[in-house]
Amino acid sequence: MSTNQDFIYLSPPHMGGREQHYIQLAFDQNWITTAGANVDGFEKELATYVGMPQAAALSSGTAALHLALLALGISPGDEVFCSSFTFVASSNPIRYVGATPVLIDSEPSTWNLSPKALEQALEDRKQKGKLPKALIVVHLYGMPSRMQEILELCQHYAVPVIEDAAEALGSTYNGQQMGSFGVAGFYSFNGNKIITTSGGGALVAHDQAMVEKAKWLATQAKEPTPHYHHTTIGYNYRLSNICAGIGRGQLEVLEERIQQKRQVFANYQTLLQDIEEIQWQPEPEGFTSNRWLSCFTIKKGSGITPEKIRLALLSEQIESRPLWQPMHQQPLYQGCDYFGENVSDDLFARGLCLPSGTQLTFQQQNRVAEVIRRFFRK
Ligand SMILES: *Cc1c(COP(=O)(O)O)cnc(C)c1O
Repeated sequence: MSTNQDFIYLSPPHMGGREQHYIQLAFDQNWITTAGANVDGFEKELATYVGMPQAAALSSGTAALHLALLALGISPGDEVFCSSFTFVASSNPIRYVGATPVLIDSEPSTWNLSPKALEQALEDRKQKGKLPKALIVVHLYGMPSRMQEILELCQHYAVPVIEDAAEALGSTYNGQQMGSFGVAGFYSFNGNKIITTSGGGALVAHDQAMVEKAKWLATQAKEPTPHYHHTTIGYNYRLSNICAGIGRGQLEVLEERIQQKRQVFANYQTLLQDIEEIQWQPEPEGFTSNRWLSCFTIKKGSGITPEKIRLALLSEQIESRPLWQPMHQQPLYQGCDYFGENVSDDLFARGLCLPSGTQLTFQQQNRVAEVIRRFFRK
C-alpha cells in the first residue's frame, strides 16, 4: 500500500495526542519490555472501561483467543462452534489447539450468528452425545450479536461463550459492553481497529484464575522456580510496555472515536439516502454498534456487484473491501460441519465496506458517495 496523501484508506490509525506521553513514561522508567506501569495501567483502564474485573494485555487478538481456548482446557478431539461469517483469526486458534471447528451461519438483522442455526447445531450434537467445548461468537464490524437468544441457548446446553469483540470495543447490547457477556471476551488493537497499540490484543474474563492462567501461558509458562523449570508449553504473547503506552493514550479518546465512527456512518446514510438499492448493516433496538466499518449490501436483482464499485473506487484512489468471505467457503475450512441457510454467503456476494477512518472529512465522504452514485443513476 502506498502512503499517497490523496488516497483514502479503509480504517487508518488515529492518534489522540497523549500516546507519546505514555511512551516517554516507559523510557523514563527504563521499562521497555513486556512489563511495567503502562501494561498494568492499560489492563486496569481497559477492564474498567468494559466493566470487567480484569484484563490481560497481549500481543494480538488472535493470541488472546488462543489463550482463552487453552485456559478452557480445549484440546484435540473437542469441537468448538464459531461464527462462519468472520475474519479467519476467529477460527484459526481452534486449529492451533487441535480442536475441530463447526461453523454457524449468520442471520439478517445483525449479520452475526444465527440463534436458529446455533440451536440446530446444538440439538444435533446433543443427539450425537457430544456437545462443543465452547462457542466463539463474533460481533462483526462492531455490531453486537443477538446475545439474549445466544446466551439462553448456551446456558441451556451448558456451553461456554467466548466473544470475539476484536471489532466491537465500545459497542453495547442493552447498555452492556461487548466482550463482557461470555466467560471470556477479547479485543484487537491491530492498526486498523477502532483504537490501536500498533499491534496487540487483550483478553477479559469474569474468572480471575482464567486471566492469571492466560498471563502465565503468555510468558512461557514459567514455574515459580529460579531455574526456569517447565511442565507446560507456553507462548511469548505479552504486550510490550511501549505498545501498552500507545494503548493508554488511545483509550482516552475511544469514546470520541466511537462518536466519529458513528458520524461517518450517518454521513454515508445521508449522502446515499435516495438510492434504495443500498441497504446498510442494520442496528436493531437496544443494539449500539461502534460502526467500526460502514458496510452495506446491494439489493438483489439490481445487476450491480460490489466488485464493480470497489474497482471504480480504487481508480479514484479510494480503498474499499468486500465483506468477509465466510469460513465455510474457505479452502482452509473445507470439510468442516456447517449449520445455516447461506445468509452469510448472500451477504458476502452483495456487500461492501466503505472507508471509515475517523479523520475522514465530509468532502472526502462525498467523493466516495459520488463514485457509488454513478452506478445507480436512472
Ligand atoms: C482483527 C480481528 C481479529 C484478530 O485480531 P489481531 O489483533 O489482528 O490478531 C480477530 N477477529 C476479528 C473479527 C478481527 O477483525
